[in-house]
Parts: sequence; structure tokens; C-alpha cells
Amino acid sequence: MQVKKQRLVLRRWINKDEQRSYLEVPFVVEGAVERIDIAYRYDRGENGGTVVDIGLRSPKRIVGWSGGAREAFFVGTEKATPGYLAGPITQGEWAVLLGAYKIPEGGAEVIVEVELTRPHGRWMKGDLHMHSDGSYTIGQAMESCKTRGLEFMALTDHNTSSQNYAALVPDEELLLIPGVEMTSYFGHANVLGTTDALQDFRVTTAAQADAVLGDARERGGFVSLNHPFCPSCPWELGFDVPYDAIEVWNGPWRGLNERALAWWQGQLAKGRRVIALGGSDAHREERFVKHGRPTASVWTETDTVHGVLAGIRQGRVVLQFDPDETCLSLTAGEYGIGETIPRTAIKGKDGIPLTIDVCGAKGDRVLLWSDRGIEAAWDIAVVPAFVEAKEWESDGTESSDRTVQREMAAMLQFDAADNKDCALWAPEGAFAPQWIETENGQVRLPFEGSSDRLFYRLEARRSVEGLKQSAVTCLTNPIYIDQD
Ligand SMILES: [Zn+2]
Repeated sequence: MQVKKQRLVLRRWINKDEQRSYLEVPFVVEGAVERIDIAYRYDRGENGGTVVDIGLRSPKRIVGWSGGAREAFFVGTEKATPGYLAGPITQGEWAVLLGAYKIPEGGAEVIVEVELTRPHGRWMKGDLHMHSDGSYTIGQAMESCKTRGLEFMALTDHNTSSQNYAALVPDEELLLIPGVEMTSYFGHANVLGTTDALQDFRVTTAAQADAVLGDARERGGFVSLNHPFCPSCPWELGFDVPYDAIEVWNGPWRGLNERALAWWQGQLAKGRRVIALGGSDAHREERFVKHGRPTASVWTETDTVHGVLAGIRQGRVVLQFDPDETCLSLTAGEYGIGETIPRTAIKGKDGIPLTIDVCGAKGDRVLLWSDRGIEAAWDIAVVPAFVEAKEWESDGTESSDRTVQREMAAMLQFDAADNKDCALWAPEGAFAPQWIETENGQVRLPFEGSSDRLFYRLEARRSVEGLKQSAVTCLTNPIYIDQD
């Protein structure tokens, strides 16, 4: 297995006669490294009589200095502790800089811990559709995303790129994906990945949409048609325009998402490979709209904007109701979500062994879809310990037993007329859902797939007591099966 982290402990004895000099504690970076974490400690003596400052030098330059203010800091490819420069971690000799400001008569020992993190595959959670031109400022949106446990956010303000210039300084925790929402009277589309993607947004015909979105793509933009079946602002410019993805999940689960999901399933069944995305579309604080609702979990090889965008382009995306809600994973041997199982890997076999991992499900029905429809269904038992109230769900009038289930019920009832499409998929007849008991909220389900299917994908739904409707809690992009 790939070694993700390498730790070094370095010691430097500082003599009294080195007081008021700058010292170096060198270490070598070999191979690819995406992040360096540094921590240091020493005996500060009585009344703070010993003071050693700290900083960092790369093979090329000083990358930061925090004096005596911090005991730990990090530099990464696109993130860094304030006071330090983010940037590619070059190979060669680096050094922790020590400033021997005040040293006692007997000298002082400084212990420096260095941790090197190598690039590695991981899921990162974020929000791919939000606004900082409504009531949220960029700073407020960033704080809200961090509080919700997100690691990236896309800056998709309406018809402007100013937010992308305002956010050029790397943040310590969040990756900021440049973007824009082309917002016309005939439909909305996100362009992700370029700072200045739109030359004009005044699109009123399919031909204009074709030109504008085509141009955005040529500039390196990734195009997602947003909330295409929204009652108030649907996509009315046809599906022959250039685009890469469809926003099947906009904000809380509602009828407009149900219709987008059905349309997407129809496209997949015809053999089209369209990536499904989702995002909160949060403009301001609202009862049901939260950053990361839904959350896009994206597989990335690096902790960088480029890495997240590469994962999105490959369709390695899972959507979740909330950052800590049901998560599903689907693999077929070495192949995962967004990938295609080649014919050579099937070698004339009819069966494809699929592995379905479910975590955090709380009474969800997990559905396995292919181009033929629902292939299998499992009901995952509710584990009471996992059905806990979340702070943000409390509206101040309810006690702490308010759960996400109630939140969903309120959400579905909020606009009942539009949400009548929210299906309660209960496949009957051909097969009954299989009941799965789970102890720790995690369960692995094996399933023998068939190599004549175009794809497999997963969906988890939670039905709400008393309502003949359900809300999606998790949705994966497909694993495709090569048919050539
Ligand atoms: Zn929109």
C-alpha cells in the first residue's frame, strides 16, 4: 500500500551564545509531497525566559515566518496556515527556521516534528452551487461551509466573475473552485473551473446558448445545466447545447429534482453518459436550504482545485443529503464510480461482482439501478443511536428529539403540489426489498451484476412516516460497462 504520511522528529540544541541568531534544521523532501506539517516545542522556562521563533524555508525561498505566535503550521499545494505561502512542494532540502530570540544560560533543546503527506486518493466533500451575491458574503459562505464540514466550495455567482478574483488568496481549509452561473430568462448553467468563463450571459435562443457554453468550454470550463426542471426557472434551450453534467439535485430534495433524476435515468438508459451533480444553491439563510445540502463527494488524487475538477470530469461523484448523511459506494473489483469496466476485464463472463458499501443509513431503502430499471433493493435498519438531532435542525421551539426525518417530512410537505412526484419506490412483485440489520450503521452488500447492462448506479431513499413520498439521501454516478 502507498505510504501516505512520513514523520520525522528533529532535535536542535541551542547554546546561550547562539542567542539572537537564525538557525536551520534541515530536512529533505523526496518524491511527490502535497503538504508539510510542522510542530515544535521547547521548555519555555520560568516567566517565559526562553523564546524560540519559527519559520520555514523551501529549496528556493523563505515560505513563511510565524515568530512565537504558533506551535504548529502547515504549507500545502493550495492551502496554508496564514503567514505561510501555499504552492507546489518542490523536492530538495527544506529547513525549519528557528529564531533564537531568548536562550537561558544552560541552553535549550527544541524538538521539531515534520510530517510529509504524499498525494493519495480520497473523497472530498463540498458544495458545487452557491452564491455570495445574495445575502451571504464570500466570507460568510466560507464560514458556513467550514461549519458544515465541507472541504471545497464553488463560487457560482450569477453572470459575474468578480467573486473569483476576490477569492484568489488560498484559504487554510477550503478549496475555492472558480465558477459562474450563467443565469438567463431561459435557463441557468454553471461553468466550473475557469476564473472568467462567460463573455456574455444574455442568452435567449438555443443558438446563443450553444455559442456561449461552447466558448466557456473552450476556455476550460465544465458546464452543468442547473435545475433543468425547476417550475420557476427551467432549462428551456434544449439539450443539444454543449454541456458535461446535469444538476439532478438542487437544494432540498423536491419534485424538480425527482424530474431531473428521471430524465437522467432515461438518458443513461439510452447509452448517454451524463454526469450527475448537485449543489445547495444557497443565497441566504433559509429554513431548508443549507450549504452542503446536498453535498458533492468527489474522488480526488490531490488536495487541489485541479484534483477536484478532474474527479468531477471523470464522474467520480456521490451526492449526499447532508455532509454526514447516508453515503454509498459501488465498486466492481478495481473499478469504481465514474469508471468503465472494459471488455477485457470481463473476458466472456456473464457476471460482474458488485460490492455495495452503505454507511450512515437510517432506515433508508437502497436501490440498485441499471438501464433496465431497479435491479435490487435493500432496507437498512434504523439504528436508534444514529438517529440523533443536529443542532441546526432545532428551530428553538422543539426539543432535541428533532431528527433529520422530521426535517425531511417538513421539506416534502412544504410544497406538496410540486413534490407529488417524489416517488416512494417500493418494487413489488418481481422481488421484495431485502431487510438488512446493521449494528454500527455500516453494511456491505455483495451483488452479482450482469455484463450485458450498460451501467449500475445506487440511490438511497428515506420515506417519511405518514407520507407516500420519499427523499433521496444519497445518489451515486454510475459504473459503466463497456459493450463494444
Ligand atoms: Zn439557478
